[in-house]
Amino acid sequence: MIWAANWKMNLAPKESLAFLQTINAKIDDSLQKQIIVFPQNYSLGLLENIFTHSPMQWGAQNIHPENDGAFTGENSVEQLVKMGAQWVLVGHSERRKFFQETNESCSVKIAFLQSKQIKPMYCVGENIAEREAGKTDLVLEEQLKVGLSKIDPQQSFSIAYEPVWAIGTGQVASPEQVEEAHLCIRRFLADNISKELAANTPILYGGSVKAKNCEDLAKVNHVDGFLIGGASLDIDEFCQIIEQTKN
Ligand code: PEP
Repeated sequence: MIWAANWKMNLAPKESLAFLQTINAKIDDSLQKQIIVFPQNYSLGLLENIFTHSPMQWGAQNIHPENDGAFTGENSVEQLVKMGAQWVLVGHSERRKFFQETNESCSVKIAFLQSKQIKPMYCVGENIAEREAGKTDLVLEEQLKVGLSKIDPQQSFSIAYEPVWAIGTGQVASPEQVEEAHLCIRRFLADNISKELAANTPILYGGSVKAKNCEDLAKVNHVDGFLIGGASLDIDEFCQIIEQTKN
């Protein structure tokens, strides 16, 4: 099981550090290995030391896919590499909606990250109109076809299935909906890249995962972990989710 925490614009550097110190103290090392934290970039300098000395994995919520240059306000992958990050989120629905990220621009970021040995966590998911029109599989397949078109199959990455209508709404997808979507993703990877890669690529579910619904979701076939927003900001709830779904 993987527990990925998307902190978005929350938690100041000192709050992030205190949060991770608590996790470090409360959660066994073997489980910490399965945690991936995506903090605010401002916090990364302060967190570098704790990440270096704990088994937790971490990454950035976004990057700019250029080696260097005059790109005011953008995040450098080279500096992330120097700091020891392992992951970057790509294609989160908030970035698609508010920052014009497309499947094409995601494919460029994914290829760039892989060229630097950073693992992309590629977010896909349908909006409510697409689900109601019965187009969920089509949408997912298009996001995967274009987004993964430059993938290096020798390097690992992960997929987060995040139905847009379930993110931050409290309206969690049902176990049946999650299973269907994860199966669609697994099948796409097997048919279009390789069976081996399909079997080894973690597929996470994200969208209003909470302590009260995580157990049922964790039992669903093809769910290898969670990408958690709101509930990852509350230490007790985040630890409870880990505790309840660790087996
Ligand atoms: C997210 O932002 O990726 C997310 C899944 O948020 P929440 O858990 O709050 O729905």
